[in-house]
Amino acid sequence: MRLNIVCIPGDGIGPEIVAEAKKVLDKAAFVYGHEMNYKDVLMGGASIDAYGVPLTEETIAAAKAADAVLMGSIGGDTTTSPWYKLAPNLRPEAGLLGIRKALNLFANLRPAVLYEELSDACPLKKEISDAGFDMMIMRELTGGLYFGERYTTEEGGIRKAVDTLSYNEEEIRRIAIKGFDIAMKRRKKVTSVDKANVLDSSRLWRKVVDEVSADYPDVTLEHMLVDNCAMQLVKDPAQFDVILTENMFGDILSDEASMVTGSIGMLASASLNDSKFGLYEPSHGSAPDIAGKGIANPIATVLSAAMMLRYSFDLDKEADAIENAVKNVLKKGYRTIDIMTEGCRQVGCKEMGDLLADEIK
Ligand code: NAD
Repeated sequence: MRLNIVCIPGDGIGPEIVAEAKKVLDKAAFVYGHEMNYKDVLMGGASIDAYGVPLTEETIAAAKAADAVLMGSIGGDTTTSPWYKLAPNLRPEAGLLGIRKALNLFANLRPAVLYEELSDACPLKKEISDAGFDMMIMRELTGGLYFGERYTTEEGGIRKAVDTLSYNEEEIRRIAIKGFDIAMKRRKKVTSVDKANVLDSSRLWRKVVDEVSADYPDVTLEHMLVDNCAMQLVKDPAQFDVILTENMFGDILSDEASMVTGSIGMLASASLNDSKFGLYEPSHGSAPDIAGKGIANPIATVLSAAMMLRYSFDLDKEADAIENAVKNVLKKGYRTIDIMTEGCRQVGCKEMGDLLADEIK
């Protein structure tokens, strides 16, 4: 298969970690007989330096013409970088919001996996972390409270602020279909999270998710209230496979799930539209404090590349090979500085990339 991928190395550690992800992808392509066709484009701070804006029409056009986008991370030190003296719509992060909008990326996927070898980093009690967990949080990204009508007013001398939470059935249906499709590639369980005991938008959410589930008889569906889900994530995270939820609940729950893994350098993410197209990036930022030192952990980006193979190209075998390479390298005791523990061997960003690529045979 020929894979046309646009790469946005970005800022800070972005170029270092994307280079290692490409190395691992190239090895998987070599072993499984695929042709990788990369095109590098600028976004964020690098684009501001070159063109004065964080996102250009050329970058959008290149992304639209590709099968998928692999991104490092954008942004700089928010207190010292000159990028943050610019107007908000010209800062690096505006590029990210702009490209998500231009590509209609409405579904955000964030896996939270506890690797056996890194279980000491998990802040939960040992009897809970011993069970391990491997879940996918699927968050609606373009609707709900963050995109509803909002205003602040004053009534009779009392200040008042209003935000509206609105979803139509089409917005719910398209993310639900994505959630069930993803569950079919995993352990076939969907936990749909809402606040249906209070909110009308949640009651509609629940109805539409039930309707969609009729087309997926192999997937077990359960509904859970968001407050209970927040508790269950720390009490028994092993119960979850795919968590399907709206924008604000997903924002909060995905951060909670990331925290219980304990390792920021390991967390991948993807944002998808209604075709197979997706933008894949690590969950962490551009880590300007360690940029250029060669010590960044490339694994979150490598795992994002594996997600790209699985969800944009249906190359499940190849994605498995990359994910297994990560597990094997950890098992052999290699660690970057952020996940280093006693008795392990510390390696830099490049060496970690080499080790991962070597593991794919
Ligand atoms: P950050 O995630 O960049 O860093 C937080 C801490 O984790 C730092 O100490 C950093 O060194 C460490 N860290 C992060 N990734 C690591 C890795 N792969 N290997 C080893 N250590 C790692 O968060 P921040 O410092 O709050 O943000 C820095 C910049 O990144 C800001 O400009 C922010 O806006 C941007 N940001 C971008 C994205 C994105 O591009 N999607 C996401 C989050 C933050």
